[in-house]
Amino acid sequence: CQQHPLNVLNSEITPNTLCICEAVFQNKLSLPAITLPVGKFAVVRKCVEKCTGHEYAAKFMRKRRKGQDCRMEIIHEIAVLELATASHRVVNLHQVYEMASEMVLVLEFAAGGEIFNQCVSDEEDEAFSEEDVKRLMRQILEGVSFLHQNNVVHLDLKPQNILLTSSSPLGDIKIVDFGLSRMVSSHQELREIMGTPEYVAPEVLNYEPISTATDMWSAGVLAYVMLTGISPFLGENKQETFLNISQLNVSYSEEELQQPDRTALSFIQTLLRKQPQDRATAEQCLKHPWLQFSEVQEPQTAVEEQQASSSTSSSTSSSTSSPEPAS
Ligand code: ADP
Ligand code: MG
Repeated sequence: CQQHPLNVLNSEITPNTLCICEAVFQNKLSLPAITLPVGKFAVVRKCVEKCTGHEYAAKFMRKRRKGQDCRMEIIHEIAVLELATASHRVVNLHQVYEMASEMVLVLEFAAGGEIFNQCVSDEEDEAFSEEDVKRLMRQILEGVSFLHQNNVVHLDLKPQNILLTSSSPLGDIKIVDFGLSRMVSSHQELREIMGTPEYVAPEVLNYEPISTATDMWSAGVLAYVMLTGISPFLGENKQETFLNISQLNVSYSEEELQQPDRTALSFIQTLLRKQPQDRATAEQCLKHPWLQFSEVQEPQTAVEEQQASSSTSSSTSSSTSSPEPAS
């Protein structure tokens, strides 16, 4: 099919895959009657590519929302996803279809669903162990570091937008939903009110400049929620939540944060700081003692991994994955 050159919100990035009409979509993909959790603006459905049998997630996005033309915003989301294809911590965009009133983003299917489900689970065997949280947090930071190196801020990092390739056994993370993401540059200030109340940084509430540090606040909230199952700033209502954030009203007395070495606590405290410039960067976080591999779970080197995968012996593989090299 034909590919159209596109203008995007930010001229620094240009998507190159967009084509097609409804008939081609229906010819190529079938939609079993499974609807995944509904987000704010999108309906996401599992779909199957007819010619390959591969499963994908189809994100259906209306081009008009509340009477406004949102096509360029969708194009921006597509462009960011294309830019991020080099990182396997970001969900892969397979194809985009444009219909009369909606656009469909065909994405790699993350079969394990949102990490949110495990964060809030009461079942002992479903909730994350600290080792799980460390491994998943490393992966989240690798993805965030990639985005920040490419001047992209996500601005909506929360457990509903971090998915898993599988839930049991626990797979790897995929960052999704670039609907609020923005390009940041040193010569242009960005101030906007956006994001989800519980995860939003103080500077967003105060209408102060947004930067990569804004995502790092959300990373701190994510680490807290994944470890304790508690949303640290959540109040009875939106106002109370905002007040808790702007006054940094957070309790560190949860038992998961009171381990003898307190490294998890120290990690979270390097991120939940009011001043954006005081927060650790994604790169610094990856070097934090909490996220270092202990001897028993030392990651395999690339060579060892290759040997392990080519070997016919039945030895079980390590449950930890090696970190993505910072690119
Ligand atoms: P919204 O902008 O509406 O929040 P999202 O991109 O976050 O849209 O998608 C909404 C929900 O759909 C996600 O929270 C997740 O549960 C599900 N979802 C999105 N992308 C995928 C995917 N690639 N694989 C599996 N589920 C997905
Ligand atoms: Mg979302």
